Amino acid sequence: MDSNLPSTLGSFSYDPAPESAAIARLQSSYGLFINGAFTAPENHAQFATVNPATGHVLATVAQASDADVDRAVAAARHAYETQWSKTTGAERAKYLFRIARLIQERSRELAVVETLDNGKPIRESRDIDVPLAAAHFFYYAGWADKLEHAGFGPAPQPLGVAGQIIPWNFPLLMAAWKLAPALAAGNTCVLKPAETTPLSALILAEILQQAELPAGVVNIITGDGSTGSALVQHPDVNKIAFTGSTDVGRLIQERVASSHKRLTLELGGKGANIVFDDAPIDEVVEGIIDGIFFNQGHVCCAGSRLLVQESVAEEVTRRLLRRVDQLRVGDPMDKNTDVGAINSAAQLARIEELVEWGEREGATRYDANCTLPSEGFWFKPTVFTNVDQSHRIARDEIFGPVLSVLTFRTPEEAVAKANNSVYGLACGVWSEKGSRTLWVAQRLRAGVIWANTYNKFDPASPFGGVRESGFGREGGRHGLEAYLNV
Ligand code: NAD
Repeated sequence: MDSNLPSTLGSFSYDPAPESAAIARLQSSYGLFINGAFTAPENHAQFATVNPATGHVLATVAQASDADVDRAVAAARHAYETQWSKTTGAERAKYLFRIARLIQERSRELAVVETLDNGKPIRESRDIDVPLAAAHFFYYAGWADKLEHAGFGPAPQPLGVAGQIIPWNFPLLMAAWKLAPALAAGNTCVLKPAETTPLSALILAEILQQAELPAGVVNIITGDGSTGSALVQHPDVNKIAFTGSTDVGRLIQERVASSHKRLTLELGGKGANIVFDDAPIDEVVEGIIDGIFFNQGHVCCAGSRLLVQESVAEEVTRRLLRRVDQLRVGDPMDKNTDVGAINSAAQLARIEELVEWGEREGATRYDANCTLPSEGFWFKPTVFTNVDQSHRIARDEIFGPVLSVLTFRTPEEAVAKANNSVYGLACGVWSEKGSRTLWVAQRLRAGVIWANTYNKFDPASPFGGVRESGFGREGGRHGLEAYLNV
């Protein structure tokens, strides 16, 4: 393929194919979803959520205070005691199926809202985030009436009220990961979306109303870290499920340590994508691209460290850089866009700081040959070569479109380098030999290992980390365990 490629491949242009922002039908402001209705926050505090691709305000949302958290937890407790804990599994399943179908019915609107609020390409919200969110509700609907056959004893019991805190990188999908297993297992929920991406969760609240989910079973409260902190410390919450940064996860772990609360933490990562010399290079290059540039690299399990066998390192890198130049970076609402906007000014500043460290510590930087839009928050897809294991760009989670390339000679060295991280969320292994892949996979310290692919998600498959990537699993039968008293 290499020599036959037209030399102009990098300059292919596409006509714009924009999705319509009007499909979002956003309101100018949103309240808190407590006890089945949207209500004003007690102190009437609001904050704006912006479109990161333009910097323009999309809507204002409520900043929940301690008193609002208290109201939401009280509503969840009342719904748990009086209704949801007495509802049969088959009945709970009906609600979950209904929610799944309504997500499908409103999928186009949800995809547009997600892309406007998050900055991710519409192609990804439309084809990945929203369908997977619906799939999670479908999957756990199937479990709701079969809990006694799930291997957790004859009569597994729910925990009670679950406080759930989620990040901004997959807003709707993370809400589905949290709510679907909790509801299937018979818990009631108070969910707090991230402050920069609250809108799809609020559309989900409308869907819960449409599904006629009993009032108080799910409460959705918007706000910043102080709202999350009040939820974590609330004495009437039985379980905290947190997805976010390792620093905040550590804080939460300290806060709940002396309480009766159950805890699961899904935290950061520094995934190694390991390429052996017998792997098909064209497929590998696509896998590397998906691994790091999917969702602008705002992915906890991103393959942000490429470990490539020395004998093919030059060839893989050469093809990779050429492929990077072909990525279409720009308007997330355009259906042809591959890489969208960075979610916030704060995240952009963090990426810029770590990339500066990469240069300062002596790695070689390559920026994609693309033009960035003039407004909003943007960062060019970036590849660093000549990276040493001690460099910050090889150790710290950048959470952006930045890849660090390292090399290895033997499988032992690949394993040693991949495991040389405080994190342990995900790894990829590329090889034609199944025996080699299994040998490597058995030695990698990570919760998820992909073979000849990367960033593949399925509701039936458990996901989670080890070491500073957290503990507990979401997805699959394992995901139920986090919400059952077993
Ligand atoms: P973050 O930790 O800053 O925020 C996550 C959530 O926690 C937000 O809703 C925030 O408001 C809330 N929060 C902040 N301070 C809090 C506190 N003191 N108490 C309670 N809640 C608080 O993380 P982020 O920047 O939103 O997300 C990026 C991080 O999330 C990355 O590190 C990424 O790796 C991680 N992540 C992990 C997974 C996973 O499954 N392992 C998935 C997605 C993202």
